[in-house]
Amino acid sequence: MHIQIDDKDFDLLLEYDQIKKRIRLIGIQLNVDYDNRVPVFIGVLNGSFIFLADLMKEVSISSEVTFVKVSSYDGDMNTGEIKKGIGLQMDLKDRDVIIVEDIVDTGATLRYLIDLIHEQSPASICVCTLLLKPKSLKEDIQEITYVGFEIPDEFVVGYGLDYNGLGRNLKDIYRARYVPTET
Ligand code: 5GP
Repeated sequence: MHIQIDDKDFDLLLEYDQIKKRIRLIGIQLNVDYDNRVPVFIGVLNGSFIFLADLMKEVSISSEVTFVKVSSYDGDMNTGEIKKGIGLQMDLKDRDVIIVEDIVDTGATLRYLIDLIHEQSPASICVCTLLLKPKSLKEDIQEITYVGFEIPDEFVVGYGLDYNGLGRNLKDIYRARYVPTET
């Protein structure tokens, strides 16, 4: 299936049914790994809001949820500069922290967040991301434990992810159509 958002064309990459099945499995894994602990899920806004909501429905262990807001994208370009919107609102000392990301691209946002959380001396930090672009990853981040899907190094929208603010409400995930540049 093909859609247009703003000035860009996108093709279907992952259907909601597929996403839902994968999230169910991640939820089961988290329930096992964090049995008898009370982790804090930290959703990274804006992109993770739908993933986090669906994930939490599969988590049956006692847990808390909070959010941070950071951004590094302008349109479909990674600016490399991380802008902090909403800081950490909770005391994380001695807590088991699970950072919930929509997508890990270069890893710069995660590196920034992990360093920020470390300052509060949590008991543990791990990362749960729906999408990972292994080819773009520039940081060595050992904390990435739960990955929904590894995807090609392409710009994606839908299921919380936007293009110029649009497309977050799409149920499925789409990838930007490659347009060869004229020489
Ligand atoms: P990183 O810091 O790992 O390079 O980028 C992480 C952030 O950039 C993500 O949380 C997300 O907001 C944004 N991002 C990275 N790749 C994409 C993409 O393909 N589509 C969209 N919509 N955002 C992306």
